[in-house]
Amino acid sequence: MNLSALQPGTQAIWAGESDQHPNGAVTTPIVNSVAYAYNDLDHWHDVALGRKDGFIYSRNTNPTVAALEEKIRVMEGAAAATSFATGMGAISNTLFALTGPGKKIVSIKDTYGGTSRLFLDFLPAWQVAVTLCDTEDHDAIEAAISKGCDLVYLETPTNPTLKILDLKRLSATAHRVGAIVVVDNTFATPINQLPLTCGADLVLHSATKFLCGHSDAMGGLLCGNAELVNKVFRFREINGASLQADPAYLIARGMKTLELRIERQNASAMKIASFLQQHPKVKSVFYPGLPGHKGHDIARSQMKGFGGILSFALDGDYDFVKKFLPSLQLVHLAASLGSVSTLAGPPRTTSHVELTEEQRRLLGIPESLIRYSVGIENVDDLLEDLSGALSRL
Ligand SMILES: *Cc1c(COP(=O)(O)O)cnc(C)c1O
Repeated sequence: MNLSALQPGTQAIWAGESDQHPNGAVTTPIVNSVAYAYNDLDHWHDVALGRKDGFIYSRNTNPTVAALEEKIRVMEGAAAATSFATGMGAISNTLFALTGPGKKIVSIKDTYGGTSRLFLDFLPAWQVAVTLCDTEDHDAIEAAISKGCDLVYLETPTNPTLKILDLKRLSATAHRVGAIVVVDNTFATPINQLPLTCGADLVLHSATKFLCGHSDAMGGLLCGNAELVNKVFRFREINGASLQADPAYLIARGMKTLELRIERQNASAMKIASFLQQHPKVKSVFYPGLPGHKGHDIARSQMKGFGGILSFALDGDYDFVKKFLPSLQLVHLAASLGSVSTLAGPPRTTSHVELTEEQRRLLGIPESLIRYSVGIENVDDLLEDLSGALSRL
């Protein structure tokens, strides 16, 4: 079967699944073995040297984890894939393995909070020069790239105001100076956006979010150019941020319903964004599906759907948020996103808690902003919940 010709939703079911499981099992078993035994020493030696397929030790590779890696590889249309214990494991391993003292990175100010810490603290301490540009200023990003750099790190849509970057345009600029392009595709997932088809060299995920989809396992995935993925894999197998079989199983299981969930979340988020936009107690709504959103045209050209995350600012101060959020019924007030249940929180308390009010203002994050990650509940119930809580303000 040629899986690469099929749609991501179909690939999610069949990729990485073998028909050779013990007892004819129809799903990939959880192999909780640390090591793999060989009676034939020559065979063991060949596997250890990578001359033959097989498993040696689960810090390097594990059968359940390998099945998950194959799933994301096929879905993103990549040559190779590898995995990590968390999304930050994927990001930090990629950046540390592919740069080094004297290297230059160009990125944006709105990357995920943990990524931002790498750019502001850990990478500069390792003598990597990092330039962070205003996220939507494509001219400024291109100018920074054109001064010469080794790696361009992009994220779109961004957290929490859903800013959009033009992946084709920025990848082309990066390649003119010979830089590697890495894209964090966590918010979009391969159902909504395929960065490698836009020119990116590597795409990575916090699998903790939409891919797993049930808030019950953490993981990170990286795929793309085989030589680059292999370089990052060799670093990860030594620093040890390896994904375990149990979470790998949960993530692969979650991915089988990814298309169903994302289609529903795309549709619900669009309805909710439109509802909030016309509500008198809401000052502004950030959702790339809204025609008035600054990145709408780019999003339309590079995304199949606009995603399940939106954010909105109440027409009031932080006290409004403190009254509004606890009065919602169908939501977990929690820091994560991309789950079957709706999750919400103020960036002031979650993703951007370590910033000052002034720093948040500079990033365009109002104090009354709420990030709302739409679950797969029936949208009519979510709309009623929001409407009720707004009317109580
Ligand atoms: C959550 C998240 C990460 C980090 O992933 P963890 O699994 O929490 O380590 C990275 N990027 C984005 C966009 C995220 O939302």
